Amino acid sequence: MPFATSLKDAIRTIPDYPKPGIMFRDITTLLGDARAFRRTVDELVQPYAGTKIDKIAGIEARGFILGGAVAHQLSAGFVPIRKKGKLPHTVVSVAYSLEYGLDEMEMHEDAVAPGERVILVDDLIATGGTATAAVELLRRIGAEVAACVFVIDLPDLGGADRLRALDVPVRTLISFE
Ligand code: 5GP
Repeated sequence: MPFATSLKDAIRTIPDYPKPGIMFRDITTLLGDARAFRRTVDELVQPYAGTKIDKIAGIEARGFILGGAVAHQLSAGFVPIRKKGKLPHTVVSVAYSLEYGLDEMEMHEDAVAPGERVILVDDLIATGGTATAAVELLRRIGAEVAACVFVIDLPDLGGADRLRALDVPVRTLISFE
């Protein structure tokens, strides 16, 4: 596949996935494009280079791929935030609402020391329910959430504004209206 000229071109849209009416923004094509992947990570970290960031927290599962690369770039540690029941040590957990019903996410209670500065990473923010729950977990164990960064924003769904209302700086690279 030729290299994409813009990051937006590197994202594939799958209509009616996972159910009818949803336009799924598929980042596997961006991850598979060496230049687009590198540029995405470079652009995500750019404002934070040279600042004190202790940990990157990535949300399962696409946030792990991006978050690992961001952590490497900023010489920070990496912390996984996972779906319930996947982490082996003592966890803190939070319930959050999905379109239908509730889910729970967890992180190790000792993954971040009180006062450490953390950047939260995920591929996409829609309603902000997932990221808001992750910020709550991080704050509960005493982390300072320095920023939340996403490749894709769906601004019509208001998630980035919801996070900013919690006093969290938000950085997104691409919007799909
Ligand atoms: P929210 O909680 O903000 O409504 O949804 C964001 C979460 O759902 C993220 O963890 C994201 O990975 C996932 N998600 C929702 N829609 C899409 C989509 O179209 N593409 C991708 N890649 N992830 C999505």
